[in-house]
Amino acid sequence: MKMINNIKLSDGFRRSFFRQVLLPLVAILLLTFTGAGMALFLGISLTNNEARQQQQRMIEASFSQSLSEHLRQLRSLSRWAPLAQHLEQTQTDVRWLDNNIGQWLFEMFDHQIVMVLDKQNRVLRMWRDGQAISPESESQLVQDVLLSALVQKPAHPDQVDYVQSGNRAAALAVGDIQRDSQPGEHFRLISLKFLDDRFLAGLAERNQLQGLHFSDGTPRPGTVARYLIISQQGEPVGYLNWIPSRPGAQMLRAIGPSTGIAVLVITLLCIYMARRLWTSSLNLSQSMLKLGASEAQAQHLAFHDVLTGLPNRALVEDRLTQALALASRHEQRVALILIDLDRFKTINDTHGHHAGDELIVAVAHRLNNLVRASDTVGRLGGDEFIVVMSDVDNIGQVQALAQRIITELGKPFTLFGSEVWSGASIGLALAPKDGLDRLELMRKADIALYEAKSSGRGKYRQFERAMDESLRTRQIIAADLRAALQNYTGLAVWYQPLMDINGQQVVGVEALLRWNHLERGIIAPGEFIAIAEETGLIIPLGEWVLREACKTQQRFPGLVVAVNISPVQFRTTGFVQRVVDIVQQAGGNPGCIELEITEGVLIEDEREARAIIIALREAGFRIALDDFGTGYSSLNYLSTFPVDKIKIDRSFTQSLGVAANSVAIIESVVKLGHAMGLTVTAEGVETEGQMSALADAGCNQLQGFLFSQAVPVEQLAGIMQ
Ligand code: C2E
Ligand code: MG
Ligand code: MG
Repeated sequence: MKMINNIKLSDGFRRSFFRQVLLPLVAILLLTFTGAGMALFLGISLTNNEARQQQQRMIEASFSQSLSEHLRQLRSLSRWAPLAQHLEQTQTDVRWLDNNIGQWLFEMFDHQIVMVLDKQNRVLRMWRDGQAISPESESQLVQDVLLSALVQKPAHPDQVDYVQSGNRAAALAVGDIQRDSQPGEHFRLISLKFLDDRFLAGLAERNQLQGLHFSDGTPRPGTVARYLIISQQGEPVGYLNWIPSRPGAQMLRAIGPSTGIAVLVITLLCIYMARRLWTSSLNLSQSMLKLGASEAQAQHLAFHDVLTGLPNRALVEDRLTQALALASRHEQRVALILIDLDRFKTINDTHGHHAGDELIVAVAHRLNNLVRASDTVGRLGGDEFIVVMSDVDNIGQVQALAQRIITELGKPFTLFGSEVWSGASIGLALAPKDGLDRLELMRKADIALYEAKSSGRGKYRQFERAMDESLRTRQIIAADLRAALQNYTGLAVWYQPLMDINGQQVVGVEALLRWNHLERGIIAPGEFIAIAEETGLIIPLGEWVLREACKTQQRFPGLVVAVNISPVQFRTTGFVQRVVDIVQQAGGNPGCIELEITEGVLIEDEREARAIIIALREAGFRIALDDFGTGYSSLNYLSTFPVDKIKIDRSFTQSLGVAANSVAIIESVVKLGHAMGLTVTAEGVETEGQMSALADAGCNQLQGFLFSQAVPVEQLAGIMQ
């Protein structure tokens, strides 16, 4: 489950992390890198472009400089007076011309072709690379030169231009040979510098150009930059091509690796940061989730019982409030079923807390299986459970469920290998009949539960108004009893004699409490003993009776006085020592005091009860088992508990002659008692017939109205005579 949660978490988390962090980060990186790349590219191409244009301007300047130099060099001879003088001579000194013109121009300035034209524009003398040649050997060139506009229609005595001849191009300079600048016909000096590799090499060196070459059309591959040479007539002469310098590319080469490394480092850093962010965000979201889970758990714990996981009191109350609100709006009925386990405390005490917990869990499980999905089963605490039934059609439905719960919880539970019986009592309250207020309804279900418990357990009781009244009465009685106990006002101990089997001789008396209430008059023990037990008042009350009994016993030495002991007293710690102390202080004789206990005290905790009885007997007291036959499995106990007497309950006595088998039952009890060496007393003897039947059955002692009711101590003397 945890893993599935984790997978779910990382799936959702991964998606949102991808969308909210990774995607924007990658986008930012891409944008930054693209922008930087584009800026770099633009910078590089701008720099390259600028460099190319500058080279073009340099070429242009260089060309025009070399043309003007060309002209200046030519002029240095054309304006040279001795040349004009020599040419004007009738006989031309060819050797002089060769030395001073053709050869000199070539050697000094590298003019490859030099021509001297006569006044009719005919070639007078021609040199190539300083050597005189015949014009016929370069007839095409001579023709092209002579046809050029520069020669044909000179606008100026000295001029330069480009000329093309075949696949060659050359810089051409023409200058009139004259001593002074008088107009008229002149000899002319012409020189050519081919734009050949040698010329271009110089140019390239000066301008630092790579791969510079001339072409009349297509340049060599790899040379992109070009410069169009145009003659003064506007005729294209050819192209100068070269490999452009690319400072941008150089810059890129220089900064490229470091930029690449920077990009790589930035990318790696971003990946690292993203990873760190991923883990810390994952941790954060996981701890948020855990926090959420523990909050949910805390929330669950706040409203659920830890042991059973059932809704706790707070949640049940909440649901009940809601159900009641709905019920009042839609005229529906809501039932409250309050369940109390009958023997939880005993099971807890005898089998341990773990077994107690197991029992609670098992009960919760059974209850859950019994109710509808719309009902709420909750644990109010201890061994108290509750079922809230909303939308109830009829009370029969509720009663049926209550009965099913009693039956189910009445079945044995297996706790750590041993079987135990718990049983349950139930109180029912119904809205709107018993009220629409939650507290009121709970109170009434509680009263009904109390009634169920006090009417013998293992039952359900539905709230009735009379219960409320009896509760109120009980509360008043409890308060009055507490007040009475301050100085025993209205309280008295009366004595009822126990007779021998002939009804002639008083063999002992039983101390019985009487309460003369100021307003209510005489209240019978049956009404207030139970209240005294519930409130714990029975302890001081019982001790007072014991002290009174001791006093009476002192007044009638040798008289056996029987004192009733409540199960509540019996179970208080240090009970034996308390009885011994009281009797001793009151000057009683334990041997003449008979303590009457009921079967109820025996079944709760057999071992403990047995130990108490033994201790009491060792202290000299006699033990009588009161109301014998009304309890659970009476005969069985006789073998376990060392008592001195059994008092057959008056219901048996009074069934004599009514129920068919009553004599047989009494007879068998008497037989068993005698077999164990016990005295058998019959209570509630009212008629002679009963007396004789009991005598026939073999009883030892008799007690009943036939002989006497309980009387105040003052009248006891009269009875005993
Ligand atoms: P119990 O111990 O069984 O006492 C006998 C009861 O039967 C007495 O009722 C007595 O008046 C009544 N009784 C005796 N003979 C007859 C008869 O022939 N016919 C009828 N119908 N009743 C007869 P009482 O005094 O009302 O006491 C009721 C119960 O209250 C006692 O039953 C006893 O369990 C309890 N009780 C009385 N006094 C004390 C006391 O001081 N301490 C404790 N713990 N319980 C007491
Ligand atoms: Mg009694
Ligand atoms: Mg009795």
